[in-house]
Amino acid sequence: MTARPRRTERPRTVIFTDLDGTLLDLRTGSWKPAEPTLRELQARGVPVVLCSAKTRAEILPLREELGIADPFLVENGGALYIPKGYFSFAVPHDREFEDWDVLELGLPYAEIRRRIQTIRRELGIRFSGFGDLSAEEVAGLTGLSREEAERAKAREYDETLLLGGLSPGERDRVLRALERAGLRWTHGGVFYHALGARTDKGKAVRALIDLYRREHGEVFSVGMGDSRNDEPLLRAVDLPVLVQKPDGTWEDLSPSPPRLRRVEGVGPEGWRRAVERLLDQGALEPELEWG
Ligand SMILES: [Mg+2]
Repeated sequence: MTARPRRTERPRTVIFTDLDGTLLDLRTGSWKPAEPTLRELQARGVPVVLCSAKTRAEILPLREELGIADPFLVENGGALYIPKGYFSFAVPHDREFEDWDVLELGLPYAEIRRRIQTIRRELGIRFSGFGDLSAEEVAGLTGLSREEAERAKAREYDETLLLGGLSPGERDRVLRALERAGLRWTHGGVFYHALGARTDKGKAVRALIDLYRREHGEVFSVGMGDSRNDEPLLRAVDLPVLVQKPDGTWEDLSPSPPRLRRVEGVGPEGWRRAVERLLDQGALEPELEWG
């Protein structure tokens, strides 16, 4: 009697998603177009991992509103927050915060601030970061409420810089000095960010995929983003998806990450369409074709 081949279990699907401009509308912050689809994923037990430049203080209330119980990463990959007991094994962590194990991948904020102070002194160029400003000043600059500005200021691994008042030459000198000081910078449209040279969303996503593998065996990872800032995330997953920007274009990531899918739909509308397409095509299996 010949043994029948054993049915292999489906890989565990995990969705990693950017927030601003992807799951959240860039202008209004709304995620309502994606709500039914998000609920469907939750009903099927598909984890949704929020991956943003936002701080823990900003993500926690949002996560509550979205009804998501999965780990998340903060400040462009500065740290991973994993609920205690989420995995069946003890998760190696750097510190604990309330009911969370925290894996720190970024440079501590105080160290980033210290290096920025040195740069300001050495170059003699005046510029400020969120750490130099009051919550009222941040609110005035960003259009956030005072409470939201307070949360945006609660930074742990990434400093937001205001370089708009500098001449192009001064700005370039500051950016080069950040690189020499072992920092990486990104530009999010209005503000610049300074963070540890080896910190990015992709590194944090890979660390989390490893934990999911340890728990579930094979994992099929989907990544959703809208901008260059998401490129490391999109390169870290099996299926990278770009949603459209408000002007209907897709970010140019050339050379494109392998297997990149560009979905029609701006922000949460594109998010909804991409996930529905995956659900329609046999619930998120790696072999699926995206016609
Ligand atoms: Mg974004």
